[in-house]
Amino acid sequence: MAHGIKECPSCALDVDRDEHPDVCPYCGYEYPKEKPTTKATAALFVVLMLLFVFYSAC
Ligand SMILES: [Zn+2]
Repeated sequence: MAHGIKECPSCALDVDRDEHPDVCPYCGYEYPKEKPTTKATAALFVVLMLLFVFYSAC
């Protein structure tokens, strides 16, 4: 099994995401971009906010 094979959420066909990273070659569905950095940035922001609230309360 190849590494980049993923099922298209629109047509449910297996697509090689290494060859077609953005759009399904069968139905033309545009895959939503996965941004792992967005989650990390949001988590960091929450931590900073908690630290700020914690220290300002003292
Ligand atoms: Zn598709």
